[in-house]
Amino acid sequence: MLDTGALIDLLSQPQKIVITTHHKPDGDALGSSLGLYNYLIQLGHHARVIAPSDYPDFLTWMPGNEEVLVFPETKEEALALIENASLIFCLDFNSLDRINDMAGPVRESAAKKIMIDHHLDPADFDDYRHWNINACATAQLVYDFIANVLGHKVYINKDVATSLYTGIMTDSASFRLPNTTSDVHRVVADLIDAGAVNWRIHELVYNSASENRIRLLGHCLSNCLEVLHEFNTAVIVLRKQDLAAFDVKTGDTEGIVNYALSITSIRLAAFIVERDGQVKMSLRSKGEFPANEICKLYFNGGGHRNAAGGQSTDGIDQVVEQFKSVLPKYKKLLIQ
Ligand code: 5GP
Ligand code: MN
Repeated sequence: MLDTGALIDLLSQPQKIVITTHHKPDGDALGSSLGLYNYLIQLGHHARVIAPSDYPDFLTWMPGNEEVLVFPETKEEALALIENASLIFCLDFNSLDRINDMAGPVRESAAKKIMIDHHLDPADFDDYRHWNINACATAQLVYDFIANVLGHKVYINKDVATSLYTGIMTDSASFRLPNTTSDVHRVVADLIDAGAVNWRIHELVYNSASENRIRLLGHCLSNCLEVLHEFNTAVIVLRKQDLAAFDVKTGDTEGIVNYALSITSIRLAAFIVERDGQVKMSLRSKGEFPANEICKLYFNGGGHRNAAGGQSTDGIDQVVEQFKSVLPKYKKLLIQ
């Protein structure tokens, strides 16, 4: 274990640092990673972000993106960096099964592991953690780590601020979720003062869809949406033939589940997709409904109360049936 003083000492000398984040990085995964990266390089550290998988085009514009390694595409280089690292920052995940084939090499590396995260139930693989489930985004915790733990607010430059703003914006669903506190708005105000151009970041993330994505969205809403009125639940099921028909790329399905949740009476929305030889589920909920509990208990996953995910190797019809069969257990919470 490292205490804060020992970590500050370590960071006062140039280190070999790997920053990694979860499978299929989202805006917070990548924004928090690049925020930390853009901070560390100012201090002379040798830092690299390694993503365990690819990520959508609407996230490839962030400062430092050109230096990100995608593990399956750059295995040799990435493995050497992990093996020789003195510090490995694990951002926006708290269990090594979220980084796929990188799990073994990260576990075995002699590097000290630093977890910065806001998910429930952290596993015990780290040497230092800056962890708070009340944070709306890991990017908020990276801000807190740099500004308050390390006392380095002056290093939050335009690149750091732009990356962290993206993480907070995407994980708070554009400052809408209940954990978007006044503190979050103060952090965001600091990031704008430091150079984040808020309206431009919104444009780059939310107004940069391919034509296919918008047509896919239309298809999902017209043909794949089922509303289970009895349970105030909406389900969108997308099959492999739909993915082929719309030439679906990583990220094209991101956020579609929110349209199902936006129906007035709906408390729980599911997006179930057949992809890469398995079935992936995204759940979103309103208020107190524990979407993460369903993912954890029935679909090998987890996440937050209002946004969670899981997967299954069963067929898609079976997964849909299983999901529906779980709903009666939650009927009271769903219809209140
Ligand atoms: P998404 O539905 O966008 O894939 O994920 C929503 C949230 O659930 C994210 O916070 C993500 O980290 C979490 N999540 C998604 N899939 C999994 C999973 O397989 N395991 C765990 N523990 N969390 C997941
Ligand atoms: Mn996050």
